[in-house]
Amino acid sequence: MHSLYIHIPFCFRRCIYCDFVSRLYSGKQAEHYVQILKKELRDISSGTFFSTLFIGGGTPTALSGGVLTNLIMHVFDSFQFSTDYEATIEANPGTVDRAKLTAIRSGGINRISLGVQSFNDEELTFLGRIHTAKEAEEAVELAKAAGFRNVSIDLIYGIPGQSLSSWKSSLARAVELEPHHISTYELTVEKGTALDTMLQSAGCPISSPDEDRTIEMYEYTIDYLTSRGYVHYEISNFARPGYLCKHNMNYWERGEYYGIGLGAHSFIGKTRFSNTDNFETYLHNLSTSRSPVREKEKITDKKTLAEVFFLGLRKTGGIDLKAISKLYGLDIEKHFHKKIKELREAKLIYIDPSGSVLRLTRKGLALSNEVFIKFI
Ligand code: SF4
Repeated sequence: MHSLYIHIPFCFRRCIYCDFVSRLYSGKQAEHYVQILKKELRDISSGTFFSTLFIGGGTPTALSGGVLTNLIMHVFDSFQFSTDYEATIEANPGTVDRAKLTAIRSGGINRISLGVQSFNDEELTFLGRIHTAKEAEEAVELAKAAGFRNVSIDLIYGIPGQSLSSWKSSLARAVELEPHHISTYELTVEKGTALDTMLQSAGCPISSPDEDRTIEMYEYTIDYLTSRGYVHYEISNFARPGYLCKHNMNYWERGEYYGIGLGAHSFIGKTRFSNTDNFETYLHNLSTSRSPVREKEKITDKKTLAEVFFLGLRKTGGIDLKAISKLYGLDIEKHFHKKIKELREAKLIYIDPSGSVLRLTRKGLALSNEVFIKFI
């Protein structure tokens, strides 16, 4: 299966926790950038057949409806897609209206991922989001009215100052809107972000919730969303049956993907590529017919096996040791015997009754980084 990712690195305002490849929106720059993206798309063979498309950012919906639909139509004209393709666009609730959503949907995008983050206005203001909780609710309804039959909502927990009851109420409001998919991410304080500076400053009156509290929030999320009919299929992701995100599943299953745009990553054959994240260099290289690729990494057999574990274990379905041993011609259980034994003793992973499928335990889901570090 092949996936295509396109990065749109523009936002109207920088959220305080953000370390994504993104810059402030300028209409002129955005138009130029999209023209350059089309040049990079030409490097992909026109015979490539895609099953998924994901337009992410940044804020793809920061672009005008005209520029965005022009890009979407260009992609669908340039490549073939499977009949049951999934094409997602990330959208900030503060940047959508009925006309834009209708144009995007008519262009062939059939899934929308709304960056709601919270249904508490104080938390949204604190995070630097450009929308209110009410606008987020309206965006979900507008997306459905525009014909989206696959709507996802992103939420963040572990926000400094956030109480468990506020998180519970955001989850409940999300469920009331009946999205098909909900992603819940723990807020991480990345170095160099405005949030990091704020929390480090002397006399800062707020702090991030402690680990026990964020684990409590996470465990509540699993119990609550599964009790409301969502399938917990990946550490941070929940979906109505039949609405798992195919694009992200392809990442976790080590399928091939092409990443186009500033800072985008690709995985083709046995090589991982990453584009420059310098805006000027990206534009300059493609304008002068040079590659935007900054790094290439040939994935060794050892690294492949590590990836199989730390990507595959993200899925609650786990990894099938027998199937993987067959695929890679190795006795995986023997190869990782010591690590698997240690993690089983720590009750972070378990082998299911079939004797072949390895999964994270409930404790392992909450402490997944402790598991993954063993395989890196
Ligand atoms: S909208 Fe997303 S990409 Fe843009 S600044 Fe906020 S977190 Fe970053």
